[in-house]
Amino acid sequence: MASSEPSDDRKRVKILIIGAGMAGLSAANHLAKNGMTDFLVLEASNKIGGRIFSAQTGKHKLELGANWIHGVLGNPLYEIAVANGLIDIVHVPKPHRVVAATEDGKQVPFGVLQEMYQAYICFLRRCEEYFLCQYLPPEGINSVGEHLDLEMALFLERVSDPAQRHLRSLIFRCLLKRETCIAGCHSMSDIDLMQLGSYTELQGGNIALPSGYSSILEPVSRLIPPQNVLKKHPVATIRWRYSEELLVGNCVTSPGTDSGIDLHGLGDGGNESDDSDVTVTGDTPPDTSPNSSREPSSEKECISVVENLKVEDPNNTTAEGGTNKDNESSEAPKTEGERGAGIQDQRKFEGLPRRRKNKKRRSHQPNVEVVCENGQQFYADHVICCVPLGVLKAQASQLFSPSLPQFKLKSIDKLLFDTVDKIYLEYDRPFLNPEISEVMLLWDSEECCNDSKDMKNKWFRKIYSFSKLSETLLLAWISGKEAEYMETLSHEEVAETCTIILRKFLNDPFVPQPKSCICTTWGSQPYTRGAYTAIAVGASQDDIDNVAQPLYSNDQQAKPVVLFAGEHTHSSFYSTVHGAYLTGRSAAQILLAPDSPEELILEVDEDASDLSSWIQGIALQ
Ligand SMILES: Cc1cc2nc3c(=O)[nH]c(=O)nc-3n(C[C@H](O)[C@H](O)[C@H](O)COP(=O)(O)OP(=O)(O)OC[C@H]3O[C@@H](n4cnc5c(N)ncnc54)[C@H](O)[C@@H]3O)c2cc1C
Repeated sequence: MASSEPSDDRKRVKILIIGAGMAGLSAANHLAKNGMTDFLVLEASNKIGGRIFSAQTGKHKLELGANWIHGVLGNPLYEIAVANGLIDIVHVPKPHRVVAATEDGKQVPFGVLQEMYQAYICFLRRCEEYFLCQYLPPEGINSVGEHLDLEMALFLERVSDPAQRHLRSLIFRCLLKRETCIAGCHSMSDIDLMQLGSYTELQGGNIALPSGYSSILEPVSRLIPPQNVLKKHPVATIRWRYSEELLVGNCVTSPGTDSGIDLHGLGDGGNESDDSDVTVTGDTPPDTSPNSSREPSSEKECISVVENLKVEDPNNTTAEGGTNKDNESSEAPKTEGERGAGIQDQRKFEGLPRRRKNKKRRSHQPNVEVVCENGQQFYADHVICCVPLGVLKAQASQLFSPSLPQFKLKSIDKLLFDTVDKIYLEYDRPFLNPEISEVMLLWDSEECCNDSKDMKNKWFRKIYSFSKLSETLLLAWISGKEAEYMETLSHEEVAETCTIILRKFLNDPFVPQPKSCICTTWGSQPYTRGAYTAIAVGASQDDIDNVAQPLYSNDQQAKPVVLFAGEHTHSSFYSTVHGAYLTGRSAAQILLAPDSPEELILEVDEDASDLSSWIQGIALQ
C-alpha cells in the first residue's frame, strides 16, 4: 500500500486511527467497507502489519512476528484466509519428531519425554480450572509457576530413583521455559494463577499461511484507500480534550487558522460554534507544545522488508531489521460486559457520559488534536488508538494530554508485556538427522539469570529447543530478561553461541556454523516494546477492560472521543492477531453506528467473519 502526503484539507478528518497493525487495519477496513472514507491511519514505521512481519531471506520465508492463526472455529482470520485462498486446505502436516538431549549429549528415552509431557499438560489444565471453575488456590500460591512447581514436586515424590527424578525435573524445566514463550513472560511465576484460564483457545489447532502471515494483510487492507495510510508518522501527542481546551483558553481562533487549514469549512475561524450552551467539564490547561521527548523517527529507508529488526546475512548486510470526569477517580467504571465481546460492546457505555437531549451539539470543532513527532498536526472527531500495550506502558503519560484517567494508567501498569524473540539459523547444508524435527535442550542448571554479569554467561540457557523448519533452517525462541540481553548481542555472537550449544547437545563437533543468523528484537522496537500481553500476578481481565475503556471529553458526546483497540484490549483473545482484528472492527462499528439507540439498525457485514457472529448467536440461545 502506497503512502502519500495528504493535501492540507485532509488533515481534518472524522476519524484518526493510530497504528497500522492488525487492529488499526481492521478498523480502517471496516470503515471503508461501510462507505466511510473520511479517516486517516497514522503509522509510525514505514510498513503496515505491526507484529505481523514475514521476511524473505534466500529461499526461506521467516515469520519474525505472528506465526499461526490460532484456531479455526469462530476465528475471523481463518475465514478471511480461506476466502482468499491463503490456506492450503489439503496440506498434510509433517509428523513432528522431538528428541530431548542433556548437556552431555545423551538422548532421553522417548517414553520418559512423553510421560512428562502428558503430566505437564495435566498440571497446566488444572491451573486453567481456577479461572473456569472459580476454585480458590492453595494458601500462598498466586502464580502459575508456583502451582506448577507444587504439582511437579508431588509428581516427583513418587519417582524413587534419584537419576530418573532428576531427568524428569530437567524435562519439566524445559517445558516451563517453553511456556514462558507461549504466555509472553520472563517466568511462569509472573503469571496470575486465577487468570490463566481467561485466555480462550479456539478449536482447530494452529494454522500457518504458506505464503507468510503477511499475506493476510492484503485482503484486510484491500478496501482502504492507499492515500488514507500515512506511514512514518509516529504520533507524539493525542490532545483528546482539544475542543474543551479551546474553550478554556477562550480560543476564538480556530486551530485551522494556526495551521492554515479551515477546520470548519466556513473560513471564519470557527466563531459560529454553538459552544455557548455547552457545559465544559475540562479544567486542565492546554499543553500546546508537541511532545518532543520521544526518539525521532528514523527516515532511513530500509533495504528490505526486514525494517526495524536486526537482520544479518552472510554478507553482513544489516537492516534495522482526565480530567475527564472519570479521570479524578481511581475507580474504574465497572462494566457488566461479556468476556470476549471486546471492549466496544455498546452496553459498556451505559453509565458513561451521554449526550444531553435538547442541547445543541458542537458539530464543527474537532474533538481531538493529534501531533506527530515531526510536528504535523491532525484534527478529528474520534481517534482509534491501536498502539501496543508496550508503547502505552512506556509513553501513556506523554502520549495523552491531558493524562489518561488513573484507573487506566494503573491497569496499563499492572498488565504484562514482556519480550519474546526468535532466533533463525540458516545453513548451507543439512546436518540434522532427517527424522528429527526438534531438539529439546535439557539444561542441567535451573537457576535464572538475575544480574547482568550472570546474563553474559547464562542467557542462552533460556533457549529450550531448536526446531527444524526446513533441512537448512532452525528456529529457537527465547523470552524475558534473557531475550532482552540477546537483543544487545551481535548476530555473530548469537550464531556462535547457538553452534556451541548444538555441538554440545548433539554430541557432534562437526555441527556447522550457520551462514546467517536472524534475531528479532521485539523488546527494543520503539513502537512495540515487547511481544504480547499477559495477565501478571495481581492483575485480571478487569485490567484489560479498563485499558479498553473509551474516553469521552465532555458529557454531551454520544460517542467516545478516543477508543482503544489492539490485542491488549480483548479480554479473552489477548495476545493474538484475531483479538487485534476483532477489537479494531468493534471500534469502527461503534463509530459507524447511529448516535441514538432508537435509530439502531442491524448492520450487514458481508465479510467471512459473519461465521463468528453466527456462532456467538448460537451460544447465546
Ligand atoms: C514473536 C511473536 C510471535 C507471535 N505469534 C503469534 C501467533 O502465532 N499467532 C497470533 O495470533 N499472534 C501472535 N503474536 C501476537 C500478534 O502478532 C499480535 O497480537 C498482533 O499482531 C497485534 O496486533 P495489534 O494491531 O494489536 O498491534 P501491532 O501489530 O503491534 O500494531 C501496532 C501498530 O502501531 C504502531 N505504532 C506504535 N506506536 C505508534 C505511534 N506512537 N504512532 C503511530 N503508530 C504507532 C506500530 O508501529 C504498529 O504498526 C506474536 C507476536 C510476536 C511478537
